[in-house]
Amino acid sequence: MNVYDSARMADVLAPLGFVATDEADDADMVILNTCHIREKAAEKVLSELGRLRHLKVAREKDGGKMILAVAGCVAQAEGAEIVARAPYVDMVFGPQTYHRLPEMVAQASRSAGAVLDTDFPSQPKFDHLPSQTRVEGCSAFLTVQEGCDKFCTFCVVPYTRGAEYSRPAADVVAEARRLAAAGAREITLLGQNVNCYHGAVPGGGEWGLGRLIRELAEIDGLERIRYTTSYPADMDDELIAAHGEVPQLMPFLHLPVQSGSDRVLAAMNRRHDAGAYRRIVDRLRAARSDLALSSDFIVGFPGESDADFEETLALVREVGFIQAYSFKYSPRPGTPAAALAEQVPDPVKVERLATLQGLLNEQQLAFNQSCVGRVMPVLLDRPGKFPGQLVGRSPYMQPVHTDGSNDLFGAVVDLRVEAGYANSLSGVLLDDTGRRMRKSA
Ligand code: SAH
Repeated sequence: MNVYDSARMADVLAPLGFVATDEADDADMVILNTCHIREKAAEKVLSELGRLRHLKVAREKDGGKMILAVAGCVAQAEGAEIVARAPYVDMVFGPQTYHRLPEMVAQASRSAGAVLDTDFPSQPKFDHLPSQTRVEGCSAFLTVQEGCDKFCTFCVVPYTRGAEYSRPAADVVAEARRLAAAGAREITLLGQNVNCYHGAVPGGGEWGLGRLIRELAEIDGLERIRYTTSYPADMDDELIAAHGEVPQLMPFLHLPVQSGSDRVLAAMNRRHDAGAYRRIVDRLRAARSDLALSSDFIVGFPGESDADFEETLALVREVGFIQAYSFKYSPRPGTPAAALAEQVPDPVKVERLATLQGLLNEQQLAFNQSCVGRVMPVLLDRPGKFPGQLVGRSPYMQPVHTDGSNDLFGAVVDLRVEAGYANSLSGVLLDDTGRRMRKSA
């Protein structure tokens, strides 16, 4: 979502004459778009600011100017603290106010002292953003939902992104059409709880995510649809059915479970237990038998015992994941779990994380190796490291390397998988008759 937000900030700034650059050295403005989800992400911000300060000072010595800004959820949560600790920062703004960037830039250029904007405006920013028309590559993100009302006891999102909000369905469809017209072959719908989407439709009523996906599947040129991140308890019948009936909806789903222990899930204020999660997975697989899953896990949540952790391992063994993110519990300021007495010592967290990741990596490698010999449609979306090499994504999101010429960019091609590694596959192009194509010179 931060990638999407950063691209939209660039859209807002374009009329002012700003163009994106990869080099901070000669930039007129540097925006750090930040994440507050774990302490490690938040810590990076201050060290990065220290580094950027030198660039800003060097530029001022040369008679130039550099606007330094902190955006995103760290700005939202710790705005005043950033201004106090890094007084050389010019602008601090949260994820819901970046449509006001032009005013902020004007204000920052006029006056000394930081501009701070961490409002939650009553009118959503989407109503003020210019339409998105640029697509980098052939795969695009599209935010359809933001914020969260679930209040998991470990999580800052309800406080940093604000309440759940769904964009009107017509706006989403229009944006998806523009993206497809600009060359997007794949769209990933984004939201902190994307599957709680309930967008208003003209004439009254609402569409859920399943209904929205069916509509997007009608758009010419759009070959692949994905969505992330989902909340298990919000997986409704219509969305599950869409997995079986909409061919553009890819058979890969990121469905965070966090823990396999009912006791821990209850303490996390998750609105599902491990059994409910298993049942949702069963229903999804009944709708789409080759559906592959990824998940998020937190180890060392306050009060997590060895037995609780064993239940997480048992769930992983039983469900099977082809990829996953796993984290040590990180106490976040202002969240209920941070105040719990039974914090798990770090060495225990480290050990549990290593055990869990060992198991998850085994499952990932086994799945990648099981793909060898299969023919898969791959969307070629990036150049590889070497000339003549292309990289794409399988339906299951695995990166796939192949040899091929650049005119294949943006195409979905059939590849026969020849090798499966820890994090990727390699494959060869097949021609129309299913034979291996000769290597291009
Ligand atoms: N909406 C999703 C969560 C997305 S946040 C859901 O409800 O499942 C991304 C992931 O970061 C979470 O799934 C969780 O695994 C992790 N995370 C969030 N807060 C955390 C914390 N305090 N410590 C460690 N990991 C955390």
